[in-house]
Amino acid sequence: MPDEVPNILFIMSDDHASHAMSCYGGRINQTPNLDRIADEGMRFDNVFCTNSICTPSRATILTGAYNHVNGVTTLSTPMDNRLPTFVKDLQASGYQTGMFGKWHLGQGPAHEPTGFDDWAVLPGQGLYHNPTFIFKAGEGSTRRPVQGYVTDLITDMTLDFLRERDAEKPFFVMCHHKAPHRCWEPDEKHAHMYLNEDVPEPETLYDDYANRASAAEAAEMRMGVHHSPLDLKAEIPRDLPEMELRKWAYQRYIKDYLRVVASIDDNVGRLLDYLDDEGLAENTVVVYTSDQGFFLGDHGWYDKRFMYEESLRMPYIMRYPGVIKAGSVNENMILNVDFGPTYLELAGLPTPAAMQGRSFAPQLGGETQADWRQSMYYRYWMHKTHHNVYAHYGIRTHRYKLIYYYADAMGTEGSIDETYDPEWELFDLELDPYEMRNVVDEPAYADRFVELKTELHRLQAEVGDERYHLDVD
Ligand code: CA
Repeated sequence: MPDEVPNILFIMSDDHASHAMSCYGGRINQTPNLDRIADEGMRFDNVFCTNSICTPSRATILTGAYNHVNGVTTLSTPMDNRLPTFVKDLQASGYQTGMFGKWHLGQGPAHEPTGFDDWAVLPGQGLYHNPTFIFKAGEGSTRRPVQGYVTDLITDMTLDFLRERDAEKPFFVMCHHKAPHRCWEPDEKHAHMYLNEDVPEPETLYDDYANRASAAEAAEMRMGVHHSPLDLKAEIPRDLPEMELRKWAYQRYIKDYLRVVASIDDNVGRLLDYLDDEGLAENTVVVYTSDQGFFLGDHGWYDKRFMYEESLRMPYIMRYPGVIKAGSVNENMILNVDFGPTYLELAGLPTPAAMQGRSFAPQLGGETQADWRQSMYYRYWMHKTHHNVYAHYGIRTHRYKLIYYYADAMGTEGSIDETYDPEWELFDLELDPYEMRNVVDEPAYADRFVELKTELHRLQAEVGDERYHLDVD
């Protein structure tokens, strides 16, 4: 590692799936500026969130802890801003810290950003056009609307912070885009894209949810069926047969999603250009990620929440010239709990005891720690409330995934108190990468099921979570 601690520019979007990035081999769009980060740095192919939803993933990134530990299990559990975060440690060590854009960890004195020298955040989800921002103001905060398109504005604020910084100190800045979150409103500059072409359909757009636990069919996030007219900017022909409706709705949905992503890509280019122009690129770590993945018509769905691949996987690309070899790829299993410990190590700081993640900083030089994890734990708590998704937890290894839909609110804030019989799903990702065939009852997988269940319960105990009370065998 270099003697001088690096600056860190952390860019995070909201609901951007890696299969809508050309550097991940996505075949539906081009993202030349994001590709620059991957080409000049490292692309991570197995970064996963531990709970695929906005507020909990953001809290996990900041605290380096799982949601049953930091208390932010659902959208209804704002983060207590007295919790330790890696940003507070960076600030205490002499970094100038900034946070601009989507916060979504609660509002008011107990939940607004702490540990930042300056910040400006959207209230809740925020708006795409002429959004209101809440600004740091002395000991309190103030809010006012700002004219413009949200992705441009958040980038402008990040650039202003960089221009006005004290050049004698390192910086850490979070540029958190609202885009491409629902309801996918493009700006005028990108509205013309894809007008006269069809976007390729995903392999599983016409999934009929056979061979799966009942949670898949029960989910209310299907193309056209559960979209609102506001989502698709059109009246929805709901009398069409469902598969025809999915085909029609997919094009309307994905085109706006990709137009909104194109604006992110342009704005990432503005930030990279600034670093080049100021001679900062060499000693600045640049990260691009998203708070979770997203279904882009996969399984006929939009949204996230499920432990299925498209929703579980986070895009993660990172550039650090002189440390990361250009064009490298990392296939280790890395989680959002690991981000904080990694940035702290890059800044020469230890991982605090309260953090459950582990630094992957040594891997930036191409070296993997011998005892790096081979399995990961996931839990989605918010039973039924949004899109009728059942509460579940599970384990993923490099080859297999075991999911347990315990389907019970268990008193969780923001869940609906209707309980169903628990169900298991087991996928062999090597033979079935799209997770279309649950093999949990197939005799050939009986031993594997037992092994994975044992490993799931071991992981649960390791991270300090408790298994569901009916899951006794
Ligand atoms: Ca999100």
